[in-house]
Formats: sequence, structure tokens, C-alpha cells
Amino acid sequence: MDNWRQEGKTRVMTVMDHLRGPWPSFSLELWPPRTPQASARLSTAIPQLVDLKPTFVSITYGAGGSTRERTHELVVELASTQGILPFAHLSCAAHSVAELREILARYLRAGVTNIVALRGDPPLASDLPLPDGELLFASQLVDLIKGCGPFTVAVAAHPEGHPQSKDLSEDLHHFCEKLDKADFAITQFFFRAETYFEFIDKVRSQNIDKPILPGIIAPTSISSLVKMSELSGAVIPQALRDALMGASSDPHTLRKVGVEAAISLARELLEGGVPGIHVYSMNSTASTVEIREAIKEFYPSGRDSAS
Ligand code: FAD
Repeated sequence: MDNWRQEGKTRVMTVMDHLRGPWPSFSLELWPPRTPQASARLSTAIPQLVDLKPTFVSITYGAGGSTRERTHELVVELASTQGILPFAHLSCAAHSVAELREILARYLRAGVTNIVALRGDPPLASDLPLPDGELLFASQLVDLIKGCGPFTVAVAAHPEGHPQSKDLSEDLHHFCEKLDKADFAITQFFFRAETYFEFIDKVRSQNIDKPILPGIIAPTSISSLVKMSELSGAVIPQALRDALMGASSDPHTLRKVGVEAAISLARELLEGGVPGIHVYSMNSTASTVEIREAIKEFYPSGRDSAS
């Protein structure tokens, strides 16, 4: 595959160059703001995010109609921001194939060719499952996307197993099939570096060598962490649980504990040679900046983001 994009006489590095290159990538996830105030906060934060030189920024896709439209709007807005390469999350749950084709065609018309292909989950506040779409699994969505144009496609990895999966080896098999069709993967968040490295060993033993970016989160609220962990299957180590509980009476200390946990995990992962770090930013620019600053020795200065 030609990883270089021609722009005039210059060859520009793509995401895949970064993920296969000598230096780790740095990327983050944002969600589309839900209120005008949150939207204003995000607009103010964009220049700070650009300063981090992220390899890419991925934008989540919600379960409901209006939040889905907001994903499209934010992705297209970021696509025109110098220094930010957006990846649009897209889920197949609750969508017909015709709708998915139309969404992909709209992205192509807007010049967006980077997608994170997912099955989808209900929002955190809901216990109800999402209605099925015509495609049951993310791997089918990868096939559809690849057939619709020159897309770079990332998929979700679940190092501790997908919570709905009853058989870890079957889950691994489905994941490897999915990643084989896609370009790279981003993991669900986890809290122990061994979780990632053991998972990578299992994937590599299936002869799949595509990049798998570890996703990390700075836990700053116990209730949402517990809810998210139930949904994602991530095990919260007792020591982290105790540290967060011990700091729970003071939001400032709680945030510090969460960010320090994320930094320590990121450093251990980078020392172990991961292809990059993907931060579930929860739209907290301050925490993301702090994490990036604390791992700066792993990144050569002056490196540009991908195109
Ligand atoms: P799949 O890969 O389809 O797997 C789902 C389950 O089906 C697994 O148990 C798997 O083992 C099983 N399976 C897969 N293929 C087969 C098959 N052929 N036969 C039988 N069983 C099979 N959710 C959102 O709603 N919006 C988002 O923006 C979003 N972003 C995310 C980003 C990342 C990086 C991650 C890790 C997760 C994200 N999620 C998001 C959550 C995700 O949608 C859920 O984890 C969802 O439950 C599964 O999605 P998946 O793409 O991994 O599904």
C-alpha cells in the first residue's frame, strides 16, 4: 500500500505512516458537545489541541438521531482545521445499509476518508439495548466502508474481551477477522499494561500484525468509571479504586489521582514499545494536555500531525 499522499510536489505522511513509523503516535477521542456552552468550550480548546500535534482526533457517534448529526458536523468542522485530522466514528447498530451508504457518501463529499467502524452501544444513561441495524457486526461495516471508497478504517479492540462475549477465544477470533479487513485498531480503555501486552501476544499469534493503539483514560469520577467499566468490561484494579475512593471528597485531588494513573500507564506502555497512545479525553483538554506533557520525551519535537 502507498502510505504517502501526494500534495503538489510534497509527499505528506498519512496516519498509517505514523502508526508504522519510528515514533509513537498521539491521538485523542472527543465527543460532539451536547450544549451551546460545551460547544463554545470545545471551540476555545481547539488551538490547544492543535498544539499537541495529534496524529488524529476521533469523534464518537451516539445512539440518537440528533447526536449522530452533531458527529458529522464536528468531523467536517475539524477537517477544515489546520493541524487536526478527524476520524469519524460510525456504528452500524440502528442503521440500514442505505443510511450507512449515504453517511459515507456525505463524508466523501466533505473530503473525510477516515472512519472508526463500530457496532455501537446505547448511551451511558440508558439500560436499553440499541435496536439492531441491518449489519450485525462491525466487521460487516468494515466491508461496506471499504467498498464505498478510499477510506482508512480503524476498529475497536477489547483486550479484556467484549463484555457480551461468552467465549474469549471466539471473541479473539472475531476481532482478528475484523482487524484483518481494517487498517488498525484502537483498544477499549484498560488499567494494567500487561492487559494490553498479553492481548497483543494473542493477536500476533494469529499472524495479524496491524497496529493496535492502546486507549487510556484518566478516571476522574468514580460513578461514571464504574458505569463505563461495566459497559466496556474493563477491570478496575483495587489499588486504583482505593486511590480514587480516598480522593473522592475533593474533586481537585480526584482529578490529580486519575491523571497520574493515566500518565503512569502511558509511560509503561510507551516504554514497552506501543505504536502510540490514544487518550479518551472525555472532552477534558486540561487532562489531555497534562498527559501529553508528561510523556513528551517519547515524542521528537517538531513532528507534524498526519494528513
Ligand atoms: P463487534 O466487533 O461487532 O463485536 C461485538 C460482539 O460481537 C463481540 O462480542 C464479538 O465477539 C461478537 N462478534 C463479532 N463478529 C461476530 C460474528 N461474525 N459472529 C458472532 N459474533 C461476533 N460505541 C458507540 O456507540 N459509539 C462510539 O462512538 C463508540 N466508539 C468506540 C471507540 C472505541 C475505540 C471502542 C473500543 C469502543 C467504542 N464504542 C462506541 C463501543 C462499541 O460500540 C461497543 O464496545 C460495542 O458493544 C461493540 O462494538 P465493536 O465494534 O467492538 O463490535
